[in-house]
Amino acid sequence: VELNTEIPQSFKSRTPPYGKLISKLHQVKEILNNQPLTLAEKILYSHLIDPSESLKHGDVSKIRGLEYLKLNPDRVAMQDASAQMALLQFMTCGLKSTAVPASIHCDHLIVGKDGEKKDLKSSIATNKEVFDFLQSCGEKYGIQFWGPGSGIIHQIVLENFSAPGLMMLGTDSHTPNAGGLGAIAIGVGGADAVDALTGTPWELKAPKILGVHLTGELNGWTSPKDIITYLAGELSVRGGTGFIVEYFGEGVKSLSCTGMATICNMGAEIGATTSTFPYQEAHKRYLISTNRSSIAQAADEVNSKYNFLKADVNASYDKVVEIDLSKLEPHVNGPFTPDLSTPISKFGTAQLENQWPENVSAGLIGSCTNSSYQDMSRSISIIKQAEAVGLKPKIPFFVTPGSEQIRATIERDGLIDTFQSNGAIVLANACGPCIGQWDRTDISKTSNETNAIFTSFNRNFRARNDGNRNTMNFLTSPDIVTAMIYSGDMKFNPLKDSIKLPNGEDFKFQPPKGDELPGNGFVPGRGEFYPVQDPIADESVEVNVSPESTRLQLLEPFKPWNGQELKSNVLLKVEGKCTTDHISAAGVWLKYKGHLENISYNTLIGAQNKETGEVNKAYDLNGDGYTIPELMIKWKEDGRPWNVVAEHNYGEGSAREHAALSPRFLGGKLILVKSFARIHETNLKKQGVLPLTFKNEADYDRLSSGDLLETTNLIDMVEKNGDNGGIINVKVTKKSGESFIIETTHTMSKDQVDFFKAGSAINHIGNLRRA
Ligand code: SF4
Repeated sequence: VELNTEIPQSFKSRTPPYGKLISKLHQVKEILNNQPLTLAEKILYSHLIDPSESLKHGDVSKIRGLEYLKLNPDRVAMQDASAQMALLQFMTCGLKSTAVPASIHCDHLIVGKDGEKKDLKSSIATNKEVFDFLQSCGEKYGIQFWGPGSGIIHQIVLENFSAPGLMMLGTDSHTPNAGGLGAIAIGVGGADAVDALTGTPWELKAPKILGVHLTGELNGWTSPKDIITYLAGELSVRGGTGFIVEYFGEGVKSLSCTGMATICNMGAEIGATTSTFPYQEAHKRYLISTNRSSIAQAADEVNSKYNFLKADVNASYDKVVEIDLSKLEPHVNGPFTPDLSTPISKFGTAQLENQWPENVSAGLIGSCTNSSYQDMSRSISIIKQAEAVGLKPKIPFFVTPGSEQIRATIERDGLIDTFQSNGAIVLANACGPCIGQWDRTDISKTSNETNAIFTSFNRNFRARNDGNRNTMNFLTSPDIVTAMIYSGDMKFNPLKDSIKLPNGEDFKFQPPKGDELPGNGFVPGRGEFYPVQDPIADESVEVNVSPESTRLQLLEPFKPWNGQELKSNVLLKVEGKCTTDHISAAGVWLKYKGHLENISYNTLIGAQNKETGEVNKAYDLNGDGYTIPELMIKWKEDGRPWNVVAEHNYGEGSAREHAALSPRFLGGKLILVKSFARIHETNLKKQGVLPLTFKNEADYDRLSSGDLLETTNLIDMVEKNGDNGGIINVKVTKKSGESFIIETTHTMSKDQVDFFKAGSAINHIGNLRRA
């Protein structure tokens, strides 16, 4: 299919290959007998390597949730913390350049404390070795390198790379943010990124499609954030597992492109594979304002000619949720889980009932979730109201711009001045407090007293922001956070409550107003934060990893499977929520992301022992107590393979592959749970750990630490390339000698069985390249 649109050379690598995708879509439609497709299916299936193989059943109902798709993503983005391991793995494959365009973003390793200038300087000094490593990898392999201070991965991707109909992978769980611009963008571990970087087919179980039908119109205090915080409450942190969330309906028209990105960003909080929106006028406006008119023109063309960027009439969804935006009110989610959702009108009562702190201790806005021009200008409209009546913030207030472009634009338009003159600290264009890099000075990390913060971020697991397990993070819109800093009272509802002014009068905020896009366009900002536009791989560049380094370590391949049934002891029975933050903590540990041995000392330190209620405590067979990683190391040295038993949604949260790599490195063989979070289950398979799920959840109660678990039909499953009916039988032998068999289920595809046999996905890619 020939498209007429002329795409300037500089945007060729950023425009989805529409001609190729439309040809593929014709092929797909033929195989599926012209069945109506959702938007998500159109984008995914047009990226299939061989539609006739992946869609062989010829009926969408026999594909969704059942078939494995082999896909060819268009590009890859990596953030500094996860890029280290992704690139260390990529290096072992021996390629001279990446097979698809890719970018590296230095954002997670930047501390938030005193403001951009000081924080950036100290963070660059602390992380120089890592940033140099990433930059040299970028130069050697032709990957675009966005240095420290340039912005947060998802904001930069939205401003530069996302496009309607694009399919991309990102080594970060909030990669779906790019779905705000009509892409299918999926968060993955580094080993999955290596598939795309090496041109190896990337495999995904065909997701089911969850439709969210938006009617009405956002108004007053309600913002896009409230759509997703409300939805998280309706669906829970597991409600989106195995689904792509696709929004549709008249209500979409009242949303800005950046608002749609906020909604897609937090689709990660309901466990969705990704989220996306059909092509809108708002997308076109955003593309034009971010200097990508040619992409808007090409998108217009494929949409009008081929109906590519929206669902077909009568497309079927596996489930539909209805939301009337006109009736939606602001929501506040938390603490400690993003799906504990309370409408603002009921929040005061919830505070009393739950005995949450009476006062808010800090307000933080920005991050990849909410740092658009619209978010910032709405926040400023509240600040200006307060300024006009002489109100001062009662609590510390921090602002994190998502990119240099956003920072420079709000600086030009006077917003930064207004923030700062009203007491806000404007932090570097980086993740900072959102990922435990908040060097908080008002409350100590070890304080036993609970305190409450209000943020416009996306995630609120314990200790995520300031390293303090007693800090309750309540997630809400930037509007509500901003109003809260002037009250400081947890029960304050800016929609109806007033604040007493020094002169005794009552003051009530008017609903915020903001501009969807800057009236005078965006300005790029400081040139030093911009990368080489179209980098070319340079083989002569040396990538140095010192053997003495504590930050970086070259990888040793994991050993292949020995062809035997797996035999391992339960090292730990985990109680309750066990997210990737519990399995592989961030904060101070971020500095070891490129050093597998050093970071492994954090393995499961946040997990709670079901049998004793203790955190980070496990017991040897003779009853001696250790920290969890200490016992893992001891058993590794003793040659005793181990496993972990856990409850629901194990590995919830992020794409952090260290949560799979570290257990593997320390001798973990299998993880047996009531259910997995999707990315984490895949990450375990990629690293050669066997993920199993209880067929009967009640069997969780029959297992204890120290029990010996032996698979009895693993060899059969491997011989059948995973196609053995999905059951693995496990013989359990208790310390008393009593034994019984339990049934577990697996979801191993043929390719994943190959990873398991080879010891890891990277070993398998290496074997293929050598063959
Ligand atoms: Fe950074 Fe937080 Fe966004 Fe993750 S969620 S990319 S840590 S700002």
